[in-house]
Amino acid sequence: MIQRRETRQIKVGDVAVGGGAPISVQTMTKTDTWNVDATVAQIRDVAEAGCDIVRLAVPQDKDAEALTAIVPQSPIPIIADIHFNYRLAQKALEAGVQGLRLNPGNIGGRDRVEIVTKAAAERGVPIRIGVNSGSIEKPLLEKVRSGQMRLAEAMCESALEHVRMLEELDFFDIKISLKATDVLTTVEAYRELAKVCSYPFHVGVTESGSLRTGTIKSSAGIGILLHDGLCDTIRVSLTADPKEEVFVGKQLLNSFGLLKNAATLISCPTCGRIQIDMQPIVKVVEDYLMREKIPVTVAVMGCAVNGPGEASEADIGVAGGKGVGLIFRRGEIVRKVAEADIVEALIAEIQSFKDELAAQRG
Ligand code: SF4
Repeated sequence: MIQRRETRQIKVGDVAVGGGAPISVQTMTKTDTWNVDATVAQIRDVAEAGCDIVRLAVPQDKDAEALTAIVPQSPIPIIADIHFNYRLAQKALEAGVQGLRLNPGNIGGRDRVEIVTKAAAERGVPIRIGVNSGSIEKPLLEKVRSGQMRLAEAMCESALEHVRMLEELDFFDIKISLKATDVLTTVEAYRELAKVCSYPFHVGVTESGSLRTGTIKSSAGIGILLHDGLCDTIRVSLTADPKEEVFVGKQLLNSFGLLKNAATLISCPTCGRIQIDMQPIVKVVEDYLMREKIPVTVAVMGCAVNGPGEASEADIGVAGGKGVGLIFRRGEIVRKVAEADIVEALIAEIQSFKDELAAQRG
């Protein structure tokens, strides 16, 4: 059982973060933000994939101006990612964004921080302080290089300095991220910070890599921190389509039993006993389950030798036979269909399972 860390709660639009709220999944659009149509299309795509909150880079005036058109069209809350320029933060707030990612120490002095925090507070918009291992302040970096401080400690110190700036202005609607490019530093940093503050955490491993390597690295880092109970919202960073980031994030939560209404797909690795072409079946069923959000366990097994037995815990499944599929429910074979009809038969069973659940729930 995962024991979540007790934190303050903030609200990003209608999504609560921390304070016992369900762990949300974030991603970032990869379009030019000023390209309103492309950005809105990508936001809708990731929302459909299950994304709870989306972040948009706002590096120029024209990006901030585009937010006025983007925000009303977004089905999920938007966070504007701002670096160095407080005016962009002001414009993003005026456009109605539900969150800011901004480090107050980087926007040019207390008066500017005050302008931004005042505008954010008036609108009930939280600010994420995001410290990345590659961008900590020079004096801290020198301490790391001279061996006086560990990198994770320096990241925590950097985050706390930014936090103090906001707290001095009576702004407490804060969440924090501490992302390093390696798993161990990331884990150490969050664990250290958890000892000294109660703000919710946005957790991720930054610039973690491609779809394959990044998924592994992110899963290792976020997985440890999920198990520690330190994640309040997560973002998997991949050099890939943002829908993949959402998919991995959701699956990570599902792996820890932290996702409601999520399906679990069991599929055997296949071996010399296999009797059906499993990969296309698994792909279609996986995509279907991601879209449908049904709390069902589905097993796809390559043969009847171990199929039903190995998947007896599953609600619905298929075990391959010679050119056929044996469809089973809770380990009992209920139908036999031609290989070409396996997907259709499985989806029909899943649908009937969903209808039964709905009837039970009234
Ligand atoms: S279910 Fe059959 S095909 Fe799949 S790994 Fe087990 S023995 Fe091999």
